[in-house]
Amino acid sequence: MDSRWTGNDAQAMISKYKDDGVGKDLALRVYTSRLLGGDPRLVLHGGGNTSVKTTARDIAGDELDVLCVKGSGWDLGDIEPPGLPAVRLHPIRALAALDALSDEDMVNVQRSNLMDSTAPNPSVETLLHAFLPHKYVDHTHADAVLALTDQPNGADICAEVYGDRMALVPYIMPGFALAKSCGEIYAANPGVDGLILLKHGIFTFGETAQEAYERMIEMVSLAEARLASASSKIFVSTKIGGEVAAAADFMPVLRGLVAGPSDAPKRLILDHRNSDAAMAFVNGDDIARYAQAGPVTPDHVIRTKPWPLIIPTPRPGALDEFRAGVTKALRDYENAYNAYFQRHNANQTVPKIVLDPIPRVILVPGVGLFGLGASAKAASIAADLAETTARVVGQSEKLGRFESIPEADVFDVEYWSLEQAKLGKGAEKPLARQVVAVTGGASGIGLATARAFLAQGAEVVVLDRDARAASDVASELGCVSLECDVTEPESVNRAFARIAEIFGGVDMAVSNAGAAWSGRIGEVSEEILRESFELNFYGHQRVAQAAVRIMRAQGTGGALLFNTSKQAINPGPDFGPYGLPKAATLFLMRQYALDHGADGIRSNAVNADRIRTGLLNDDMISERSAARGLSESDYMSGNLLGREVTADDVAQAFVSLALAEKTTGAVLTVDGGNIAAALR
Ligand code: ZN
Repeated sequence: MDSRWTGNDAQAMISKYKDDGVGKDLALRVYTSRLLGGDPRLVLHGGGNTSVKTTARDIAGDELDVLCVKGSGWDLGDIEPPGLPAVRLHPIRALAALDALSDEDMVNVQRSNLMDSTAPNPSVETLLHAFLPHKYVDHTHADAVLALTDQPNGADICAEVYGDRMALVPYIMPGFALAKSCGEIYAANPGVDGLILLKHGIFTFGETAQEAYERMIEMVSLAEARLASASSKIFVSTKIGGEVAAAADFMPVLRGLVAGPSDAPKRLILDHRNSDAAMAFVNGDDIARYAQAGPVTPDHVIRTKPWPLIIPTPRPGALDEFRAGVTKALRDYENAYNAYFQRHNANQTVPKIVLDPIPRVILVPGVGLFGLGASAKAASIAADLAETTARVVGQSEKLGRFESIPEADVFDVEYWSLEQAKLGKGAEKPLARQVVAVTGGASGIGLATARAFLAQGAEVVVLDRDARAASDVASELGCVSLECDVTEPESVNRAFARIAEIFGGVDMAVSNAGAAWSGRIGEVSEEILRESFELNFYGHQRVAQAAVRIMRAQGTGGALLFNTSKQAINPGPDFGPYGLPKAATLFLMRQYALDHGADGIRSNAVNADRIRTGLLNDDMISERSAARGLSESDYMSGNLLGREVTADDVAQAFVSLALAEKTTGAVLTVDGGNIAAALR
């Protein structure tokens, strides 16, 4: 591992922040924090923390010694100066004289010494930083260091690798006791460049940002060199033979089973990984031992649970067997998790609140690993941590045998009082955990709908036949896009298979793609009618069928939402080629409600009219308003309410139907009022 420090970049950071009144000390702290955070071999997802001891002026103009330390909620990879809140140094350093300090008191004293009362909570490792005398302190959970320490004889290996350059700290969970122990061990070994926290991570320090950072790189490189010199024995695998079912086929089954009872599913998003490291890990003969041995660093437990779930390999044409195997594995996991909770909760002075017994990492021999989470982001973090675990355990097993902290210590971190206090506080958005596909999602009503579902917390997939436009929209909205031409059966099936591979399944489909054809019905060619039916009827049927296939595999219900039209109720002159398939689609919606209500699948439609970005383009609007002798705005607002209806209004109607859990077979009209088109 090489240092990525450059004098030019360091200077650029100092200049960049100077205008904001940020001093050199903090600017360089931001710079090397990002260097650490930008390397996944050192730090992942909010892990690790850094600090600098500097001075700040209070409101009276007096200069004070402060510790700028990583605040919670910030990631080292993209940290900014506000992510390193300043805490008055002397009052928190004085705490070293105490024998004990509860986590709640520690958080309180840290918060009450913030220079800015609105700053985020300083890291739980703040006191550890404060108790060390150095100006710059860096902490990571570097893979290579974990591979050395996560061994029955990890302390001996580290002593051999580092000699007297690093002091070793026996495992203690983060908090006051660890901070105090580190301060004492440093005081007894004042010549060291850093501390190895056994089965947790590494601290390095220095008088400059460069010194602390480059010591980190050097110490991690020493660990890497030791691992490279080890015999290359890694997971032994007697090849997983036979064919494996397609991810698009078995992932919805797995996602549905994980969600639990179909009447009150607790949906999660799945993130599949099959990198070389992941495959070697899941295919190893000894998986039941090393994969269940505990986390590589306690920091991971909150996201990954103490251990993953191992399930059987899904075979093509044998999904019923797979279903049975997963059901049993989930039941065993739940029992084991509850037993673990009871075992350790019995020893607590304040009883803990049990967390859900659902795995967050699933290992499948022959297939890879899955991260699970309440959002795609949470699932991807769990998957990243699981992949890191695969790599660290692999390296660790090259040296000897992977060993984690004792189970009681894992429990202490998972059920930490500060984490428990957060339970149930952040309310989820109404459509969180739901995967929603929107066809024709790159423009007009589809785009407004994608935006509205994202605002409700859904995981949205923008489908559009214009792949480029869809991808532009998706990168703007921060969601996923796929090419999907609803007039091509293969294109629809491919898109929905891909959705299942990306998220594990689909919960709602907004079938919106459509276009207008016109012609007087007594004269119009059959070709035009067929073309319109292809898009405005069969397109909807293909999308609904592809979605229903996945929803039924999940067994957790679902929702179909169709964009029909005023034409389906109240035909306009010469608009038969458009209205006829739309009328058929209205009945299609009802047929789905009828045939798949028993599957828990709801089917509803929005009946919108006169939407500027819908079927009406600017030319059509000026033509039609001219034909009626109206201004464009009078034409567009020519309804009972006298107000123009927008794509956002239609999008809100889709959201309302998505949320109406007991409504199926319904049409919601969004046209500002038009009695001729009212439903009876
Ligand atoms: Zn740590």
